[in-house]
Amino acid sequence: MARRTKIIATIGPASEDERTLKGLIQAGMDIARINLSHESVELALERYHRIRRVAHDLGRPVGILVDLPGPKVRVGHMPEAGISLLEGQELFLTPGRGTSTPEVVEVDYDDLLTDVHEGDLLTFGDGAVQVQALGRQGDRIGVRVIHGGHLTGRPGIHIPSDRLRLTTPTPEDLRLADAFVEVGVDMLALSFVRSAHDVRRIGVEPSPRGPLVVAKIETRAAFENLDAIVEASGAVMVARGDLGSEFPIEDLPHLQKEIIRRCIAVGRPVITATQMLESMVHAPSPTRAEASDVANAVFDGSSTVMLSGETAIGNDPVHVVDVMARIAERADEEFDYGGWPQWLSTLHLEPTDDVETAITNAMTSAAQRAASEIKAAAIICLSRSGFTVRSIARFRPRAKILGFSTNPRTVHQLSMSWGTTPYLLDDPGMTEEEQAQHAVDQAVALGEVHPGDLVVVLGGSGIYRGRVTDTVRIVHIP
Ligand code: PGA
Ligand code: MN
Repeated sequence: MARRTKIIATIGPASEDERTLKGLIQAGMDIARINLSHESVELALERYHRIRRVAHDLGRPVGILVDLPGPKVRVGHMPEAGISLLEGQELFLTPGRGTSTPEVVEVDYDDLLTDVHEGDLLTFGDGAVQVQALGRQGDRIGVRVIHGGHLTGRPGIHIPSDRLRLTTPTPEDLRLADAFVEVGVDMLALSFVRSAHDVRRIGVEPSPRGPLVVAKIETRAAFENLDAIVEASGAVMVARGDLGSEFPIEDLPHLQKEIIRRCIAVGRPVITATQMLESMVHAPSPTRAEASDVANAVFDGSSTVMLSGETAIGNDPVHVVDVMARIAERADEEFDYGGWPQWLSTLHLEPTDDVETAITNAMTSAAQRAASEIKAAAIICLSRSGFTVRSIARFRPRAKILGFSTNPRTVHQLSMSWGTTPYLLDDPGMTEEEQAQHAVDQAVALGEVHPGDLVVVLGGSGIYRGRVTDTVRIVHIP
């Protein structure tokens, strides 16, 4: 079985050159992530165009996800050798953007002194170091180290989100989003959202005209408002770095499962992110725990697993993607395909009020049952916006999903959908009936299906003018 779970790799200094990009795509990167919290927009745009070029040369529909920083707070540059902090040690934090010293760490948050209260827990670098605030002394806050560690570069600092006055998207996020919407970015991720309103404030056109908006779940408020946020988003990320600082660490595995469950229920792709193969930033092989984490994220129902520093600044980004692809593919083989639709039915999916959505969801449910009963070789899905494909993917059918669209943007956005091979369907002048036949012919020509195969074809009859998937057919390939 070919790999079904998708892979996002973050592009950074270690992976931005053409040769490495090519290697990443060949090793299995489905989506390239550009994280704007570290780069200037000019550099990021350059990367964007380079990724597009390399993917185009290889003829692969690689999606590009641009991750907006939101009100991410960072600390001032660490000295060259970094600083080591030991448990029990005390030091100061002060608002500023200058260089940090082992005694005074600068934090680029102007309201630090008023917003951080005695007793608050603050975390550096996705959990590398944790400190507790002792109280204000003049223009500084004293802190005591709870978990020691080594800090280098310009790590982020996590301040409990209910203390922060900053809201997301920030004016800077909106400017950055504009720059990337203009060049046609496929997906935009929003950091630190707290409500569905935050998601809507990004103000892009609905996908596929606009990018798929990915809500990163990494605040307490986001978890409390999860259903509304999921509904308002095109996809969701379990952003374990910050989420693991917002909640007690023992809650994190269960938050991950719950977020994934709620996304699956309504057919939103869901990304499990952060520290998946963290030790491979330096090491040639992952820890045993990391290998299990990736496989378990697949079993939880992740559509996509993500690499961050591993490919952005790591020693061997291509090798990391290769290892992740192997672990994910093996987990995909072991996945409980038989039990999944049954498990899904226990979620008590709320019927939607929107008739067109309800019809499409019912048709994908029927298609999934038909495909399983006849052991279909493939589910061929014709989709304008990608919604139908995302709706069928939540059932985790054993049959491969071929997602055909006449819209190139949809094709790129389908790079995030579990188990789906996206294809551009040429000749948009046809009727929906003709398109279905054309997609089957194209699937045969591509070698995806073979004479004698039974395939399930999902598409529109024409009654709803392409807005609704209202037919399921079973085609016996001659
Ligand atoms: P970040 O988001 O890497 O942009 O912080 C992911 C996370 O918080 O896990
Ligand atoms: Mn984060």
